[in-house]
Amino acid sequence: MRVRFWGTRGSIATPGPDTVRFGGNTSCVSLTTNAGAHFILDCGTGARALGAALMAQPVKPIVATILLSHTHWDHIQGFPFFTPLFVPGNRITVCGPEGSAGSLRDVLSGQMEFTYFPIELGQLPATIAFRELSEGAHEIGGARVIAQYLHHPAMTLGYRIEVDGAAVVYLCDHEPYSETLWHGDLSPNYAGSIVHEGDRRHARFMEGAGLVIHDAQYTPEEYPSKKTWGHSTYEYAVGLAAAAGVQRLVLTHHDPTHDDTFIAALETRARAYAKQIGCAVEVCCAYEGLDLTVAPHGVQYLAETPPTPHAGHDILRCSRILVVDDDPDIRALATQALSQDGHIVTEASNGPEALVAIDAQAPDLLVLDLMMPVVGGLEVLKILRSRPATAALPIVLLTAMDDEANTRAGFELGATDYLTKPFSIPQLAARVRACLTRT
Ligand SMILES: [Zn+2]
Ligand SMILES: [Zn+2]
Repeated sequence: MRVRFWGTRGSIATPGPDTVRFGGNTSCVSLTTNAGAHFILDCGTGARALGAALMAQPVKPIVATILLSHTHWDHIQGFPFFTPLFVPGNRITVCGPEGSAGSLRDVLSGQMEFTYFPIELGQLPATIAFRELSEGAHEIGGARVIAQYLHHPAMTLGYRIEVDGAAVVYLCDHEPYSETLWHGDLSPNYAGSIVHEGDRRHARFMEGAGLVIHDAQYTPEEYPSKKTWGHSTYEYAVGLAAAAGVQRLVLTHHDPTHDDTFIAALETRARAYAKQIGCAVEVCCAYEGLDLTVAPHGVQYLAETPPTPHAGHDILRCSRILVVDDDPDIRALATQALSQDGHIVTEASNGPEALVAIDAQAPDLLVLDLMMPVVGGLEVLKILRSRPATAALPIVLLTAMDDEANTRAGFELGATDYLTKPFSIPQLAARVRACLTRT
């Protein structure tokens, strides 16, 4: 299959003399299978030139599948300028994560209301179908497309496309689940040494891929001040690609403040880091026009992962959630985040109060602070997991301590997810929705 980059920038288009080499258009990558099926990974401003290139090809009508990671601007702003949508007979299927603020069609038509754009979505002459995807494997366009939630302050999917004896994995926008990536007492850069279950799942998703396209918006020095914004460093991408035995890694979603000189230096540092950790993965930074052929590479196809059933609006938006924290400010923030999302939220300020509330209310999900006086979060978790009624209750642990001993203890006791403070409102909302769709 063939992969080509049309947009490599994150956040906002950044044209100009300082971004000529790596490009100024926002996220868009095309993937064409040997049988000629077209996949379009995100529809940032790069999609305009891709649309023109497809229109210039002799094969008509154009049949293509757009796989949207999420609907932040830098991933959809090229959609109204994608000219194949303006030609009757063309057939475009738009896929994206379920659980965004509205249906996929509503969100995309929102940016095409007359206030913003002269032609509304419903007036486009091409045949456009919308398909909201849950996690798991889907058969699309003759390929096996596996979707998995990423860590971003919006419902965001990563995609693994398995076709033609190869696997290509697209992972934008995403940030580490835990700042502590590796267990201190195990060798780093092996999947089994990863501290957080979320990061381990992320590495497994890349397993044996011929090509991984990964968010690497920040340097390790920049990341601490950008935590919770939903983007990765090159060290994280290289480390996990090494653990997953990836052949080639392309770093993308470049920060708008990074000019060509900066990104070239970032590329040099990423390659040096790969060498330093003894990783054979070939690393480069994406640029507009980068064209790769991914040859069959004896890929291990990911274990059978059937699609999870659609969670449905009621589960994603109207669940009963109990927030347990002794800090009233955290309770207020979590309640605001989850109420805004449509959930019915109640609060408890300590462990014993929480256990009584769980018996009385039977919540659908628990947000549970780790460090509480008298009965701590781990103790509450242990009690709940020992009771049949709450053995499978989704529980998101909250902690101020991003340390591996607590994270390990939390997952060993059966935590569903583990979120480090400080967190942002959209981040908590997205993590809770991902937990609800999985259960
Ligand atoms: Zn983005
Ligand atoms: Zn985003």
